[in-house]
Amino acid sequence: MYSNAEDYGGRSLSFVRPVNEALRCGICYCVMVDPTSTVCGHSFCKACLHASLSHASTCPTCEGQARPTVQINVLKQLIGSLEVRCPNPPRDGVECPVLTLDGLDRHLSHCPCRRHQ
Ligand SMILES: [Zn+2]
Ligand SMILES: [Zn+2]
Ligand SMILES: [Zn+2]
Repeated sequence: MYSNAEDYGGRSLSFVRPVNEALRCGICYCVMVDPTSTVCGHSFCKACLHASLSHASTCPTCEGQARPTVQINVLKQLIGSLEVRCPNPPRDGVECPVLTLDGLDRHLSHCPCRRHQ
């Protein structure tokens, strides 16, 4: 069974399938958070791109002019529909269903495996 912990927005998530390279940021190589594209067509996390543009005005991938950036909703949708496993350990042997990135936070707010503290 494929199981690969990936960093996504500072937390480690277990993706069900290998993540398409096209959905990775060209700067941090993680799954993009708030995917943002440059006019040359390369895509990065919003935070990564802005950090890079603060000291260079070129695209980190192709070194072309990284002019005004556009939010690519298609990428956002693709990333949001990636399947991940619930990060909480199964309780009484019952595993949570496979989730999507978009549904993860909603699930975590009422996850049955969540630790009662
Ligand atoms: Zn990044
Ligand atoms: Zn580029
Ligand atoms: Zn859960």
